[in-house]
Amino acid sequence: MDTIVAIATAPGIGGIGIVRMSGKDCFSILENIFVPKHKENIEQIKGYTMKYGQIISKETGTVIDEVLVSYFKEPKSYTTENMCEINSHGGMIVLQKILEECLKNGAVLAEPGEFTKRAFLNGRIDLSQAESVIDIIHAKSEKELHANMRQLEGYLSKEIRQIRKELMDIMVDIEASIDYPEYDVEEVTNAKAMQTLEHCKEKLQLLEKSFENGKVVKEGIKTVIVGRPNAGKSSLLNAILKEDRAIVTDIEGTTRDSIEETVTVKGIPLHIIDTAGIRKAKDQVEKIGIEKSKKLAKEADLLIAIFDSTKELTEEDLEILHLIQDKTAIILLNKSDLENNVLKQNPAIIHSGKTVIEIAALQRQGIEELYNEIERLFHLNEIAPQEETMITNIRHKTLIQKAEENIQKAIETIIMQMPIDIIAIAIKNALENLGEIIGENVSENIIKEIFSKFCLGK
Ligand code: GDP
Repeated sequence: MDTIVAIATAPGIGGIGIVRMSGKDCFSILENIFVPKHKENIEQIKGYTMKYGQIISKETGTVIDEVLVSYFKEPKSYTTENMCEINSHGGMIVLQKILEECLKNGAVLAEPGEFTKRAFLNGRIDLSQAESVIDIIHAKSEKELHANMRQLEGYLSKEIRQIRKELMDIMVDIEASIDYPEYDVEEVTNAKAMQTLEHCKEKLQLLEKSFENGKVVKEGIKTVIVGRPNAGKSSLLNAILKEDRAIVTDIEGTTRDSIEETVTVKGIPLHIIDTAGIRKAKDQVEKIGIEKSKKLAKEADLLIAIFDSTKELTEEDLEILHLIQDKTAIILLNKSDLENNVLKQNPAIIHSGKTVIEIAALQRQGIEELYNEIERLFHLNEIAPQEETMITNIRHKTLIQKAEENIQKAIETIIMQMPIDIIAIAIKNALENLGEIIGENVSENIIKEIFSKFCLGK
């Protein structure tokens, strides 16, 4: 395999930057471009040490930068190959020059994710662990980070391997009864297999179920605030944004003309599609119509319907109540600081079937109650306890579902007293599905696709 090199730090200006190199020629390339202060022989440098010196251009002899180089000797490195990381001053030109020197001396430019891909291909980590690396980098909340750290540590792999072992034990029994039909062990094999299959199915169902929580942790809760003009949407949004200092992102939303604000509630990202923002951004007099809200509401996980509690319900308010009827929604009666609180007694509100919270957005009152209700609705307190393995990856979920289906097929073939080798086919398929999660028998294309999502230098 070639020796690969890449700039591992994010583009831009920073205190330090890192160029990372991995492969069998790593140290000989380094020898050509790095002059350690104490002129140590590369052979004598130990792994997990750092040396101070200069990167020079071999051609001209000019000094490019003062650096610290860390050494990792095979097999004790990220990729299990010889590796080094050149810590230079953080600036694009410096890093680019160091990268060029490595390339000139025989390294090739790494593809995105190639370091992690090598860690996988060289057997240090399995595929699900490699996938967790990218999710750790992209994690937007503490809980997501925690779930992915556990995956990197191998908890998911361990569970999958355990289930595979149980299924393989059945296969061994089945093969024995095929090879030695004279012992007539088929009935015993079937009874035992049935028990194990049920057990494996239960375990897989639990993992599959954890994906619901995993999805919330990973993708957050898509939230739309609906309410007619002047109900207090902007004030509510401001109150939420002020309440929560940990604003993760402030990005353009999925629809071209909506703005998405992200805050974290109880450790979970709440993506608020800012309809008030649209109105303000586009035209002061243009009001966001119910049609627009309807469209946004369709895709939302949570609707927050806000009403001016000092005004009787209008036609538009009734439409909003209708809109939230079949959705996960919370009703806020705003401006509760004012005297004439008429909406509290309104039958349409009382009988809406939704939780009603009185707030005063302007005074930031009632926001904590709103958060508590979100926590209750989405069971946030149950998500990701320390010891739970949680699936956050759709590829894993799909394979777990397929394995479950195959196990179900195996169970049915036993019930229907089909020949034992038919049962074996279904179990073998389930084994393959589970094997794909940890990277056994996966096609080159799938591997390519997974690692293409990585960043350079990882
Ligand atoms: P939007 O059109 O739904 O975005 O509503 P705004 O947030 O712009 O609020 C409309 C008006 O109601 C503004 O004049 C706010 O100052 C006022 N308002 C919003 N929330 C409250 C509140 O809790 N109490 C009082 N008294 N006024 C509020």
